[in-house]
Order: sequence, then C-alpha cells, then structure tokens
Amino acid sequence: MRLRHLLLLTQLPFWALLLATFLILQGSLDRRVQTVEQVNETRTQLERTAELLTHVLDMETGVRGYVISGQPAFLEPYYRGEAAFPAVIGTLREGATSDAERARLARISALIGQWQAEVAQPEIRLRPDRPAEAEALVRSGRGKRILDQIRAGIGGIEESLGRQLRDVDARAQAQLGELRRVLVGAAVTLLLLSVGITLLTARLLTGPLSELGRGTRRVTDQGGAAVTERGPREYRELAGAFNRMSRGVQEARESSARAADELAAHNAWLSELARLSDALQAASSVAEGTEILSRALPHLLPGTSGQLAQHNASRNLLLPAAAWGEALLTPGPDSCWALRRGETQGTGADRPFMPGCAGMPGGYLCAPLFSHGETLGLIRVQPGPDADLGALREALNDVARQVALALASLRLQDRLLQQSIRDPLTGLFNRRHLEAQLATGVAAAQGGEPLSIVALDIDHFKRLNDTFGHDAGDAALVRVSAALRELAPPGSTPARPGGEEFTLLLPHADLTEAAALAETLRARVEALDLSHDGIALGQVTVSLGVAGLAPGGSGEALVAAADQALYAAKRAGRNRVVVAGAQERADRS
Ligand code: GH3
Ligand code: MG
Ligand code: MG
Repeated sequence: MRLRHLLLLTQLPFWALLLATFLILQGSLDRRVQTVEQVNETRTQLERTAELLTHVLDMETGVRGYVISGQPAFLEPYYRGEAAFPAVIGTLREGATSDAERARLARISALIGQWQAEVAQPEIRLRPDRPAEAEALVRSGRGKRILDQIRAGIGGIEESLGRQLRDVDARAQAQLGELRRVLVGAAVTLLLLSVGITLLTARLLTGPLSELGRGTRRVTDQGGAAVTERGPREYRELAGAFNRMSRGVQEARESSARAADELAAHNAWLSELARLSDALQAASSVAEGTEILSRALPHLLPGTSGQLAQHNASRNLLLPAAAWGEALLTPGPDSCWALRRGETQGTGADRPFMPGCAGMPGGYLCAPLFSHGETLGLIRVQPGPDADLGALREALNDVARQVALALASLRLQDRLLQQSIRDPLTGLFNRRHLEAQLATGVAAAQGGEPLSIVALDIDHFKRLNDTFGHDAGDAALVRVSAALRELAPPGSTPARPGGEEFTLLLPHADLTEAAALAETLRARVEALDLSHDGIALGQVTVSLGVAGLAPGGSGEALVAAADQALYAAKRAGRNRVVVAGAQERADRS
C-alpha cells in the first residue's frame, strides 16, 4: 500500500463519523424546526380561540345592552362579532390537529348559531315593539345556558391546545437532550478515534523507520543487517533498497577481509621466499644450496609434487637435485617445452592444447631456471586436484626467479672457489689448498689417527721439455696428474704444489699403505705410453718420497721428511720410492 493511500485510509473513519454526525444533526434540526412550527401553530390556535371568545362575549354584551337601553348603537359589537366569528371558526378548523377538536369547533359553531337563532335574534326583534317579552326572554336564562356551553367548549379547546403545547414543549426538551448527547458522543468518538488512529499511524509509520535506523546502526557497527520489508509501499521500497545496500556492504566487507587474508597469506609466503633467498645467499656451495632447496620448495609450493633438476657440467643432461611429493620423471633437456620456450610452461588444465614432454603425461607446470643468459635447470611441479593454477604459476615464477639467481650465484661461487684451490693445468689442488688440508689433517691426527704424505717429482723433466717442447711437457704433466687422481683414495688430497712436483696427502693412511700406494703410482706412470701431437715422448718416470706424521709432529716436518725421502730417491737413481726413516728401496736403478 502506498503511503498516501495509508494516510487517506486512516482519515476515512473521521470523514465517516463527521458525515454521520452531520446527518444526525440535520435530522435533529429538521425535527426542531417542526416542533417550533407546531408550537407557533398551537399558539396561533390559542389566540384565535381567545379571539372567538371575545367575539362571542362582544355579541352577547351588544345584545344585552340593546335590550336594556333600546339603543341600536349597542348592537354594533353584535354585528361585528356575527360577521367575524365564522371566519375565525373556519381558520380554527383548518388549524385543528384532531377530529375531536374539529368536532368541538363544530359544536361551538352550532351553539353560537343556536344562541343567535333562539336568543339573540328574537331579543333584537322583540325589543323595539315588545320590550317586556324581550326582557322576559333575557331573564329566562336560556341565552346564559347556551353561552355557558359555548364558553365550556372554548375552554375545552384551550385546555386541549394547552396540553398540546406542553407535549410539544416536552418533546422539544427531549430533542435538545438527544442533540446534546449526539454532539457529546460525536466529540468523544472523534477524540478517541483521533487518538487511536494517530497511535496506529505513528506505529505503522515509525515502526519500519525505527527498524531501518536500527539496521543502519547494525550495518555501521558489525556488517550486513536485513530489515523486514513492511509498511507502506514507499517504506517497503526503502527497506528493499536498504537490504540491497546492506548486502552490498556485507559483501564488500567480506571481500576486503578475504583480500586482506589473501594479502597476509601472500606476505607470509613472500617472507618465506625472502628467508629462502637469505639462506641461499648464506650457502657456501651449490650442494648446500640444493640441500636447502629440497627442504624449502615443498613449503613454498604446497599441495604439489615436484622436482628441481639442474644441468650437468656439459649441459646435455638434466639431473634431479631435489624432489618432493610423488616421484616425477626428469625430462631430457631437448624434450622440455619450458626450456625450449624459455618461459613457464604448463600442460593439462593449465594449457590443455600443449603436448606434454616426452614420457610426462598428466598436468604439470615447468619453470626454467635462467640467470644471466644461462639455463641452469628447471623446477617441475604437479598441482594437486584443487590447485589454483593461476596462483601456482605466479608462485612458481617467483620461486624460479629466486632459485635461478641463487643457484647462479652459488655456481659462480663454486667456480671461483675451485679456481682458487685448483691448479689450472692439471685440475689438481694447488699449494694453498694442500697447505690448508695439511693443517686440517694434522689437527685431526692429534687424536692418534695416521696421516701420510707422498711427494712425487718427474725425473729429468727439463730434458723432456727441452727435447719435445713445453707443450709436450704440459701434456706429460696432465697425464701424470690423471694417474695420480685416479689412484688417490676418497678423502685424500692430490695436489700439484708447483712445476713437475706432485703431492698426495693421505689422511687415515699409515706409512705402509702410503708406501704401497706410492709404488703403485710409480709403476702406473712408468707404464704410461706418452705422446704429443703424434710424437712419442718416450718413457717418463717419477721419484717418490713417503713420510708419516710422527706423534706430535708438525705439517712442515712431515713435508720436509717426504721431500728428504724424495731427494733420497733421486740420489738413489730416480724412478723409485723412498720411505722416510726406512731403508731406501730401489725397485729400479
Ligand atoms: P730431476 O730429475 O733432478 O728432477 O731433473 P729435472 O730436469 O726434472 O729437474 P729440474 O729442476 O732441473 O727441471 C725442472 C724443469 O721443469 C724446469 C722447468 O722448465 C720445467 N717446468 C716447470 N714447470 C713446468 C710447466 O708447468 N710446464 C713445463 N712444460 N715445464 C715445466
Ligand atoms: Mg723438480
Ligand atoms: Mg724433476
């Protein structure tokens, strides 16, 4: 219902009551007017009755005066009454309200006629000539009797009219009382109706408004609030618009809360990524970095199975370095679309049209690891069934960027480290690293562990250089170093401290083991078939000195002992092993 219809409807009872009151008042007024008319009419009848009596008395007085005086002038009132009373009687008859009254008037009229005929006219007629008869007729009392009857008749009429007047008066009083009651009743009803309708209208109009006010406060304080759509149509439309606005506010609030949660989760994730980056920067080698990544990647890419694969040194293979979740196949470098296209590549739900890598069915995402124009490897993940592929792709890109940077840095670090501890020609450790390892080995051997060292020098190397050239000498150095590396046990340090001298530091090996190894090495070199640029270099031999760490001995003393043994081997004729502190053995002269 519209507001104006409601307001009109609430006014309807007022209008109906006013109309009813008006109609009742109009009826009362009509009856009042009728009553007043009746009163006036009755009063007029009473006056006419009095006039009739006056005429009768004038006629009687006139006749009597004439009989007594004999003067015709006394008859004047008689004739005037005689002429007038029929009209008065007629008027009274017209105004009569009952048959009894009309009968009474007829009787009075008849009595007057009888008095005239039997008394008045005979007395008037007899008086001029027979006055005694006329007086005798007066004295007979007949006229008086008839007149008494006329008076009694008129009195009866007056009494009847008086009674009517009292009845009408009583009725008029009753009407006034009724009118007063109607007015009071209408006023009281209007007052009660006004109060009731005002309260009802106020309730109808203020109820929905109050609810809207409460709803607005709830929306402001705590979020979505719905109000009942009630009241007039305008109110319902307002409440409907309010509910839509409230839902909008609630949705906006929820979506901003969701966005805040997502932002907080993303920030937490970025912090974790930053911590990974810090840890990788602190790592000292690619191996250590890979170890860190194998622990961190499952947390950074939750709900996935995955693998980190790195190129080998010759870049023709991808080697798995870290894995989590279900085992995934490692692709060949040529079959990987991500490496081919140089960007994150998906198959399955992410890019249904893309063919998978050879031997890699199912949906997955591959991110290549690129840094400074170099491909280092890739990260491959298989999303869980409910994964948000867009978010996963973004996360994978971020992770791959950080991992590639860190791995490139670690590789460079590894390379620099290797350069600083390796001899560039042979790839063996250099003097500096040898000395560091020696110090470490000596410290470790303080507990009684054996530590031995083998010093090796190529025999007559100058001659070889001079004969075949420096490059041929280098080739011989490389071949001898390869033999040394092959025979060096794990944990030992094969080194080239300088020139054509080599050293093998052997932790955990006693003098006997070291001597045996030295002898094997000597024999291996001796058996080498060396050539350079197709020219045979002839046999190359080496002399070796072996020494073991004396209890409480120093590294320098150990090296010096090995050198002394080596010189002893040279002196003894070369191509032999001499053990420090033992009888010199010569396998060959
Ligand atoms: P010995 O049997 O007494 O050890 O004789 P030798 O000739 O081996 O010893 P010597 O110390 O007289 O000569 C060492 C030579 O090794 C001198 C030097 O030119 C050569 N040499 C040192 N370093 C290199 C190198 O890096 N490459 C080449 N080709 N020759 C080197
Ligand atoms: Mg030498
Ligand atoms: Mg030499």
